[in-house]
Amino acid sequence: MNAFPPHNRVLPAADGLTEAERTRILAKAAAFAPPPMQDADGRRELVGLSRAELEAEMAALGEKPFRAKQLWHWIYHQGVRDFAAMSTIAKPLQGRLAEHFVVGRPGVATEQTSQDGTRKWLFAFRDGQQVETVYIPEEDRGAVCISTQVGCTLSCTFCHTGTQRLVRNLSAAEIVGQFMAARDSYGEWPTPKGEEGRLLSNIVVMGMGEPLYNYENVAKALTIIMDHEGIGLSRRRITLSTSGVVPMMDRCGAELGVNLAVSLHAVRDDLRDEIVPLNRKYPIAELLDACRRYPGASNARRITFEYVMLRGVNDSEPEAHELVRLLRGIPAKVNLIPFNPWPGSPYRTSTPEALRRFAEIMNAAGYSSPIRRPRGRDILAACGQLKTESERRRRDA
Ligand code: SAH
Ligand code: SF4
Repeated sequence: MNAFPPHNRVLPAADGLTEAERTRILAKAAAFAPPPMQDADGRRELVGLSRAELEAEMAALGEKPFRAKQLWHWIYHQGVRDFAAMSTIAKPLQGRLAEHFVVGRPGVATEQTSQDGTRKWLFAFRDGQQVETVYIPEEDRGAVCISTQVGCTLSCTFCHTGTQRLVRNLSAAEIVGQFMAARDSYGEWPTPKGEEGRLLSNIVVMGMGEPLYNYENVAKALTIIMDHEGIGLSRRRITLSTSGVVPMMDRCGAELGVNLAVSLHAVRDDLRDEIVPLNRKYPIAELLDACRRYPGASNARRITFEYVMLRGVNDSEPEAHELVRLLRGIPAKVNLIPFNPWPGSPYRTSTPEALRRFAEIMNAAGYSSPIRRPRGRDILAACGQLKTESERRRRDA
């Protein structure tokens, strides 16, 4: 006997609401859309096109779909930007491609390397807008922290990016371009075989902006990055961090299947309302429900809860116990991030003693909860220190 007759599977009203909310979020993202990806001379950017779009461009030139496959290999496997170096493509076609297209990268406005090896770039795009990208090397691997928006609509009180208004969303080209430009900087082309031994082996979508408020461009970019015939980073090596855009979390899990990190930072709604203002819209209980539903979360693939340790604000022992209680039933690990100060920031970093006690309580409850050693603080490259001078131009200017 079927215990769940079909009429029970009709989506409850709440899902209609979720759908409406999702539509609203996507419409708002479109209002901050990036400009067209083309040079001043009209040549269009190939980086950031999906495979289907690349095939359509080739068809428009009267070329067969396999040309798109060849180009994909040159662009994302070999890292080649010059059509004349694409030796499997005949000279006349190389010339036609160069007339119509470019394979670009964001411009490097500045590049700084920290004493601890962390490297930070200020990248500039065609319209002059800028974001920061950071590479954090580890002994046998390294993560690139990429940005998804110029500025951020949210205004978490401990975050430097949050003091900058949202200027616009980044395009898929600009998101993939950050990773490719970082690879250029370390000369890691062609794409190494397999996933072991790569210098740039992981991606954390934790730079400037809220990725789930620019979902479509982020999804397109990550799909390109995960493609096996190109950069080929698996979803297990990609972690997307959200401040808790609940209606977009299930899509992220179902469509991309990347690791999820959630910026929790407080265990009570009154405090989280204040320091992560998005909480007023999607409070802690709803956020944790969305985590419970997150597709692919398991003991082997835990959700990371980020918790920035602010002295005397959210770092007490009762709060650690409450965090343990809240996370019950969720495959979770906790990242305790000592607050990274920035010019004019209103908080102080928790004392080493408070950090240690908090971590001990989490560990005793069975949660792996490393205290994240801050990296690149000397060049303002650590979590939450990124901010650029880009400003929103008046729309009617
Ligand atoms: N908007 C997304 C991703 C970018 S922020 C999000 O909020 O999750 C990446 C992480 O850095 C988040 O966990 C954020 O809360 C944390 N962070 C922000 N400012 C910080 C600071 N000053 N010190 C330490 N961590 C900070
Ligand atoms: Fe935006 Fe994340 Fe910073 Fe909050 S912490 S202001 S969501 S970038």
